[in-house]
Amino acid sequence: MADVCIALGANLGDRRANLRSALRAIKDVARIVAVSSLYETDAVTPDGSEGPPYYNAACRVETELEPLPLLGFLQSVERHIGRPPSRERWAPRPIDLDLLLYGDDIVETDDLTVPHPHMAERSFVLVPLAEIAAEILHPVLERTIAEIAREAGAAGVRRVAETGWESATG
Ligand code: ADP
Ligand code: MG
Repeated sequence: MADVCIALGANLGDRRANLRSALRAIKDVARIVAVSSLYETDAVTPDGSEGPPYYNAACRVETELEPLPLLGFLQSVERHIGRPPSRERWAPRPIDLDLLLYGDDIVETDDLTVPHPHMAERSFVLVPLAEIAAEILHPVLERTIAEIAREAGAAGVRRVAETGWESATG
């Protein structure tokens, strides 16, 4: 059983509903151990263009799926929720599911890099992740998620709902 962390993001449609649908789908292949609070973050793109703000969260799960099949499953959930298969990388999307950490595995293939290559620079990933995985040691950086998150800071990441948002109605 692997201890896995996944980042969830959405900046199109009913963002909270999209994140909830993704969590419901993930339950088919994993046991959800923890879900972070819900955050809102301004969309940042490398070319400086702006998109609608994101809702972001992180979850921690236990699963028997190996990393590549898990990525394939997450991509099928993205398609199911309505993300077109190949749009430009930074386009607004109803759902984005990123595999952040898979135990202390290090994976480097054409389709999958774990730990996620950009997680250490992204406050919108680290702030939710630090709520549920503070003690995990990043297997490449060899520092805890709490330390990495503290260094990245929390600028622009606003909490919009406490833990439990995923099961509450409304
Ligand atoms: P981003 O999530 O950085 O905004 P995309 O979701 O558009 O960008 O990128 C999807 C691509 O990233 C997919 O083709 C997928 O194969 C690749 N990828 C590599 N490593 C990972 C990972 N750890 N989690 C999710 N996708 C990954
Ligand atoms: Mg992605």
